[in-house]
Amino acid sequence: MSHEAALRAAAPADVARLMGRLHSHGFAAYVVGGAVRDVLAGRAPADWDLATNATPDQLRAAFPDAEYENRFGTVGIPTGVAVREVTTFRTDGPSSDARRPDAVNFISSIHGDLARRDFTVNAMAFGLAGDEGGDPVINGAFVDPHGGREDLDARVLRAVGNAAERFKEDALRTLRAARFASRFQLTIEPVTAAAIRDAAGLTSALSGERIGAEIEGILASAHPEIGLAALHDLGVMRVIAPALNERWSEGLPQRVAAIGAPESSDAPDPLGRLAELLVPISDDEVAEQILTNWRRPRATMSAIAQVRAADRAAAEAERGAIDHVEYRVHVAALTGDPRDAARQIRRRLAAERAAPGASTLLAGCERADAQNTPALPAELAVDGAELAREIGATPGAWIKEVQASLLISVGRGEILNQPAALLAAAERAHASNE
Ligand code: ATP
Ligand code: MG
Repeated sequence: MSHEAALRAAAPADVARLMGRLHSHGFAAYVVGGAVRDVLAGRAPADWDLATNATPDQLRAAFPDAEYENRFGTVGIPTGVAVREVTTFRTDGPSSDARRPDAVNFISSIHGDLARRDFTVNAMAFGLAGDEGGDPVINGAFVDPHGGREDLDARVLRAVGNAAERFKEDALRTLRAARFASRFQLTIEPVTAAAIRDAAGLTSALSGERIGAEIEGILASAHPEIGLAALHDLGVMRVIAPALNERWSEGLPQRVAAIGAPESSDAPDPLGRLAELLVPISDDEVAEQILTNWRRPRATMSAIAQVRAADRAAAEAERGAIDHVEYRVHVAALTGDPRDAARQIRRRLAAERAAPGASTLLAGCERADAQNTPALPAELAVDGAELAREIGATPGAWIKEVQASLLISVGRGEILNQPAALLAAAERAHASNE
């Protein structure tokens, strides 16, 4: 299929109709940016953004239900299926914060609009010029002044225009470069790479939120090792996470990529990857500070803390300090899910940093998972209140310890998970603890 045919086939009907309506009002209409790139790369686009020569005011006159989306004049037009973003062709004015232009200028040509975009693979358009006729889905024209399709086919990431200027205008592009390289397995072209290196210092002006979002995008992609290695090699990591950069090793990007990779038995695992990225940092507070700087949500922060604690338990179990039963009960108490015990060993094996005991340990945990061996207090045949009553002590922190020791005994097959056996064992455990 030609790229035009592929784009025609992929365009949702409401997008095609909207392009037709724009055209019947005498305006040009193009699908631009990510959607064109994704279709040519054989992927389903997340969103279908349109560009037009109509000004926001003209759009609102032609489409009474349109709404302004942001201060740069992007307009959202409801199609009945979705609200499609339509943006007037523009050039960006100068930027005083190395991030956003202070103002934008509306222009009349798609070519100028494509020239303001960051990378050639993001600077392609597909659609109708205002003076052509007919059905946009049938008469679609492909506009690619910067050779985006060739770069995509050759797997090259290249800045549009003067690379040095492009990264100075907007330092976020340094991180976007790493993300797109990871997502589409692209090599960053040398002039573009040199420009990223020169602009690396400017990333200190970016918000932690944007940095964190780009890092997560890299970690969620097919080849995070490409973007991570680029961020380190081009000096960006030194600015966005100096502590991590200091402890960087050449094999780290690959270890991160191995977590949740298609051939591993865990589904793609962005959280495991983020934890793996932070493995070189042994101090929890330093690791937490990086996540705080990147404005990661509270839930992510606590999940990472759990993975780190589970990882330390796994290291102990691998060297034989605790057996697989105790390890699994311990991890279940940390994360609330007994299956995290096996999961963490699989991660360590995937990253090739597990100790020799890991395979036996993993087999033990997987067997226990398959047999639904209890590992959580709620899975015991007696609850905490019954234990306190039986032992005749006021409920307190000791209950958790007794429950853990019961779970370990049950897991080892020393006692049955039945009330009488558990209560008798609980008395013995409590007595020996006092
Ligand atoms: P994604 O699938 O991640 O959304 P995308 O390419 O659609 O990828 P967006 O951030 O949604 O990325 O931006 C849409 C388009 O706008 C891009 O394809 C690019 O042409 C342009 N663009 C976005 N951000 C920038 C930027 N910081 N500098 C230059 N152009 C940009
Ligand atoms: Mg997008």
